[in-house]
Amino acid sequence: MKLKRITALVLCAVFCFVMAFSVAFTAAESGHTCIQHENCLICATLRVCSCVMENFVFAAASLAAAIIIFLVGERFRNDGKYEKPCETPVLLKVKLSF
Ligand SMILES: [Zn+2]
Repeated sequence: MKLKRITALVLCAVFCFVMAFSVAFTAAESGHTCIQHENCLICATLRVCSCVMENFVFAAASLAAAIIIFLVGERFRNDGKYEKPCETPVLLKVKLSF
């Protein structure tokens, strides 16, 4: 159990570091004017950072869509449950007197 927490914490720290580095590098090199169009290390790093951020946005959107689908499904499941009438003596037409 403790190993899972440590692993999750390390993965979260790595993820936060990568995202922060990507955003900071992209902001710092936003005005990059490329002199050598081939084999430019800054342009290659900018492409990787852009790809990382795009993947994060896609993952966040996918997670949001999954949460919305789950909540809508729960809503419909609860509606179906409440549409069923309660079984009362009146609805069951139970004759209480002899
Ligand atoms: Zn460049």
